Amino acid sequence: MTQTIQSVYNFNAGPSALPLAVLEKAQTELINFRGTGMSIMELSHRSKPYEDVHNQAIERLKKLYSIPENYEVLFLQGGASHQFSMIPMNFLQSGKKAGYIMTGVWAEKAFSEAKLFGEPYEVASTAADKHNRIPKLNELTFNDDDAYIHITTNNTIYGTQWKDLPDTGNVPLIADMSSDIMSKPVDVSKFGLIYAGAQKNLGPSGVTVVIIRKDLLEKGNPNIPTTLKYTTHADSNSLYHTPPTFGIYMLGEVLGWIEESGGVEAIAQRNEEKAKLIYDAIDNSNGFYQGHAQLESRSLMNITFRLADETLEKKFLAEAKDAGFVGLNGHRSVGGCRASTYNAVPLEACKALSEFMLQFQKNNQ
Ligand SMILES: *Cc1c(COP(=O)(O)O)cnc(C)c1O
Repeated sequence: MTQTIQSVYNFNAGPSALPLAVLEKAQTELINFRGTGMSIMELSHRSKPYEDVHNQAIERLKKLYSIPENYEVLFLQGGASHQFSMIPMNFLQSGKKAGYIMTGVWAEKAFSEAKLFGEPYEVASTAADKHNRIPKLNELTFNDDDAYIHITTNNTIYGTQWKDLPDTGNVPLIADMSSDIMSKPVDVSKFGLIYAGAQKNLGPSGVTVVIIRKDLLEKGNPNIPTTLKYTTHADSNSLYHTPPTFGIYMLGEVLGWIEESGGVEAIAQRNEEKAKLIYDAIDNSNGFYQGHAQLESRSLMNITFRLADETLEKKFLAEAKDAGFVGLNGHRSVGGCRASTYNAVPLEACKALSEFMLQFQKNNQ
């Protein structure tokens, strides 16, 4: 039987939900893309129809995020993980230091790649607290001559998120925004470089968005392979080699959907409402559900919680699955439960989950 509608509540952590309107539009354009007689996947990346899609995606990103003139937007490949090595390869000369704020698994991975190129150090770590919080700004001290400071703005696995950004002065702030890019307004001018794999908030997997300040771009090491230099991609409008054309098309459509939904401010407000529904279910449960993150560090994108024991958690996850909820199991490294409420997850899905949680509690208390 063919399924014509999506019939699940998708809380996957990544790849994750896409706006239904975007999927439907892609479906109608799939076989004959805007009168070309073929699909977008079959078009040359040097053709006018593709270049229009490519440039529109860049322009939409710039407009939605109010990206200043002195920044470039790049579409790269290799996922956010590839940025873990590309950043130090470009900006961390041997003998130089770079500060890493250790708030979870992704920060640790980024840190260990940087060791291959220079001398990264830990500015602060929340490992002793099982990464259930974001460090306080007064826990952070930087060196004036660091190559850069690296943060993870949203910790996908632990469910914590930065609210106030550290002021790193003249030292470029580099941010892994994979799991909260475009979920709320951001002052891009505070960053030297922002990167994000698209598959959480922006589109399908296969595209990595990089927003980079031009003066930092020019400081990149020239003696590294061509495709690993940011300048290569900036100089060719991310068309040095074949880009992931279908992914960039989808990304552009998701950005169009954000525009139609009222822009990033409106999306942010909706994200707060969505997360509140689920956090309220946790907070009003008298301890039946226990949130992992400390209150002031809670993520609006990944809501992590546990039940009294693993048996009850298994029962919760199994019944949730039967009720049509997908992706509620925690990351394999930490267990428990996690609801990822990215931009494209509808309010109705969060409402349904909070009601399910309430009912499950009543039945199992
Ligand atoms: C998912 C994720 C990554 C890894 O992304 P890939 O595109 O799979 O490499 C890195 N950082 C954060 C914060 C993430 O959420």
